[in-house]
Amino acid sequence: MGDRIGRVCVIGAGVMGAGIAAQVANAGVPVLLLDVAGEGPDRSAIAREAVARMVKAEPAPFMSKQAAGLVEIGNIEDDLTKVALCDWIVEAVVERLDVKQSLYARLETVRRPGSAISSNTSTIPLAKLVEGRSEAFVADFLITHFFNPPRYMRLLEVVSGPKTRPEVAAKVEAFADRAMGKRIVHAKDRPGFIANRIGTYWIQVAVNAAMDLGLTVEEADAIGGRPMGVPKTGIFGLIDLVGLDLMPLLQKSLGSSLAPDDPFHASLRTLQLVEKMIAEGHIGRKGKGGFYRIN
Ligand code: NAD
Repeated sequence: MGDRIGRVCVIGAGVMGAGIAAQVANAGVPVLLLDVAGEGPDRSAIAREAVARMVKAEPAPFMSKQAAGLVEIGNIEDDLTKVALCDWIVEAVVERLDVKQSLYARLETVRRPGSAISSNTSTIPLAKLVEGRSEAFVADFLITHFFNPPRYMRLLEVVSGPKTRPEVAAKVEAFADRAMGKRIVHAKDRPGFIANRIGTYWIQVAVNAAMDLGLTVEEADAIGGRPMGVPKTGIFGLIDLVGLDLMPLLQKSLGSSLAPDDPFHASLRTLQLVEKMIAEGHIGRKGKGGFYRIN
């Protein structure tokens, strides 16, 4: 196994995957960006549009045009075998255990043994992710939880499992530090790790309190913004940034991973307002807006 990361693959070209790929390319490292195959004539349209989004991002591009030239786009039906050329595979697909597990089963047959593989999951314990995988896969597997937007957030939460080879984690961490400028915090393999164990709880409490108090979104964000340490977005703006559709997935994932007597269950009250907005098509900045409307 080489200890150098010279080519990266990111699977999932959504909010996080596109941002992670952009950061890798900005560091001058070639990256393969894959998503599901589209139904139209361009089967790699999702990844293609993600690259365009990164280059056009306002107020500043997330990726330079030059860096965009380092991104090879594709889809997991036609291009999955290309992961064999990659030293690090970052999985950033939807926060669903079944989807992640079936992708890993496919990756197991095509990736190069010794290549690092990591998940950007927000909540799912590593032990669950690797259930049913080979010893070789588990030895190369860890969690790298990036923060949104990856371009600006320096924190990287890393979870290694009991069977993760230390040299694999060291290789990924050295790259994340030197090429991507990350500051690494090691977390234990618990549901939500550190950040989302606290973060999901805190967002839940804040949204429920704002609704109980009858605050407008602007009022809640004025109070829950700078005074409470979320200066750029406030809490509702943060949910728009994260994606409203991720919220129920986080709740569901945490709810199914926590021990039955964990007091956190009581806080996982369904955010009915968020569910209603998702049903109406308001999923946040990645769509046509959320609590704050775009246009
Ligand atoms: P997203 O919905 O924006 O994007 C997910 C992408 O994955 C979509 O483009 C979808 O088409 C693709 N996808 C789904 N199944 C796939 C498959 N089998 N193969 C390839 N692509 C597939 O989601 P996101 O917000 O970017 O979240 C991705 C992961 O990152 C999740 O695990 C999430 O919990 C985590 N995360 C999200 C944030 C955030 O702020 N949004 C922050 C940290 C971590």
